[in-house]
Amino acid sequence: MTDPLPDFRYYADPYGDRTIIEEDITCRVCGAQRAWKYDGVLYAADELDAICPWCVANGHAAEKFDGCFQDVMFPEAASEESVLWVLMRTPSVASWNPFEWPEHCGECCRYIGDLRNHRHPGYIESASVQTDLFEISRKTGLTRDEVLSWADTGSIYLRLFQCVQCGTYRVILDLD
Ligand SMILES: [Zn+2]
Ligand SMILES: [Zn+2]
Repeated sequence: MTDPLPDFRYYADPYGDRTIIEEDITCRVCGAQRAWKYDGVLYAADELDAICPWCVANGHAAEKFDGCFQDVMFPEAASEESVLWVLMRTPSVASWNPFEWPEHCGECCRYIGDLRNHRHPGYIESASVQTDLFEISRKTGLTRDEVLSWADTGSIYLRLFQCVQCGTYRVILDLD
């Protein structure tokens, strides 16, 4: 099988995050021999061992096991179509606690990753990230610098997202 690896509209790099790993499997959904395995969660009644990333991307895995890939909440403003896409066709974002998946321009945002691994000034200094950091520091009682240094040491987790339509960044707090 030499199909090109699928891209995910709402998850930038599940390969880099090792949510999808290189491993020879026979996919339980499509039955194909694949060199890649989905190594994230599928919330379903069944125990799962071998699902290929293509069956995550096309929704067949979620459909077959009547499950979904995320344990998160969604804002009202996110379109139903994008919510379903995140739940049924997007690798799971590992988190400590259910958080609210951010939206922008009326659509769910794309998950970029743990902010610790994306500390470019372009992200941190953008107005929307500053707004979100301000909100997080208000909620936690920490200063902005404390929020960032706590995130660096892994005491808290900051998850970076980006609007798929306008490119605006969003940051979400994921508490241990
Ligand atoms: Zn498959
Ligand atoms: Zn936007």
